[in-house]
Amino acid sequence: MGQYVVEAREQLLRRRRSLHRQAGLPPAADPAARWVDYEATQSLVAEGVRRELTEIDAALQRISEGRYGTCLACGGPMGLQRIRAIPEARYCTGCSGQGLAEAE
Ligand SMILES: [Zn+2]
Repeated sequence: MGQYVVEAREQLLRRRRSLHRQAGLPPAADPAARWVDYEATQSLVAEGVRRELTEIDAALQRISEGRYGTCLACGGPMGLQRIRAIPEARYCTGCSGQGLAEAE
C-alpha cells in the first residue's frame, strides 16, 4: 500500500469519526464497519452527511480492495493533490469536470 493510500485512509477514518460524532451516531471503531450498518439511525441523519458517509465508505472499500487512487471513469490516476483535497473522490479532476462529478 503506497504512502498516499495510508494517508488517505487515515483522513477518511478521521472524517468518518467526526461525521459520526456530529450526527450522533455510534463511533465506527471498526475500520471495516460500514455506514449502512447503522440502518436504524440513518433516517435521522441529514442528507448531506449521509451522502458523505456513503462516499467515505465506498473509498475505504476501494482501499481495502487495492483499487484506490484510480479514476472510476477513465481509469487514470487521481493525482496526489486531488486525493489529498478529496480523498473520497471517485473521479479525477478531468472527469469530474465533465458532468460525472460527485457533489463537491
Ligand atoms: Zn478520469
